[in-house]
Amino acid sequence: MELYQEPLFLLVKYPLGEADFIAHLLSRSQGPLQARVQGGQQLKKGFAYEPGDQIEATFEGQEGSEFIRLKEVRPLFQRDPQPLGYVSILGLATMMELANRLGRRGWDAAGLFDLLRASQTWDWSRPSLLQRLFDFLWLLTDLGGIKPEYRQCMTCHRESYLVKGEGIQVRKSFYLLNHAQGGLVCGGCGEGGDLNGSSVKLFWLADQQQPLEAVPADIMLQALWQLFDYLAFHSHFQLKALPLLREALKA
Ligand SMILES: [Zn+2]
Repeated sequence: MELYQEPLFLLVKYPLGEADFIAHLLSRSQGPLQARVQGGQQLKKGFAYEPGDQIEATFEGQEGSEFIRLKEVRPLFQRDPQPLGYVSILGLATMMELANRLGRRGWDAAGLFDLLRASQTWDWSRPSLLQRLFDFLWLLTDLGGIKPEYRQCMTCHRESYLVKGEGIQVRKSFYLLNHAQGGLVCGGCGEGGDLNGSSVKLFWLADQQQPLEAVPADIMLQALWQLFDYLAFHSHFQLKALPLLREALKA
């Protein structure tokens, strides 16, 4: 056993028995780690952290094993859940579960860690929640090197849009996100399409780092579900929290 001191992100807490839980954590240098955190009044007080919080941890671990024993923990970043409310907390938890799954699939731990750190300062409250969820997913596809090709159709290779002044004009009304091909197939080539043409503009705006406030919520939601499915397809998992989030965002 060696002793380490490092900042860690808490990504997921899985209950274990009556009072304990397993904490899934992410280290920038060591990747995914897990620790059993014991319940009981005294210790629970010592670990009042939620997914997305960052801690400075002193822990024992062994090279090549992800199981660690937490010795001492202090907060580096703790989000106040009160002003966020249920839906935002759920959205955040879903993002953390996603980061956890991807980390366990061997995605670049340092890249994930840096994205988590960057997202600390984002406004996750309800009015901007959809944009933050989209930003997070979009940056993840970039990090994983699987950002969907949206500039041209994967089948006919015709461009998806024309640049007009400050903005763009999308060529087709509907597109299909082809998971296996890693990009959009236009309405002219595909059989129908589950993405409104406005999604092309959303992707373009995101890449231009332009504000997404003006994107209608239904377009944003459609793109969100597509990106979740896309990431799940490329990483072979389904997120436990996703059905709950779907329900919550419908309301
Ligand atoms: Zn086409």
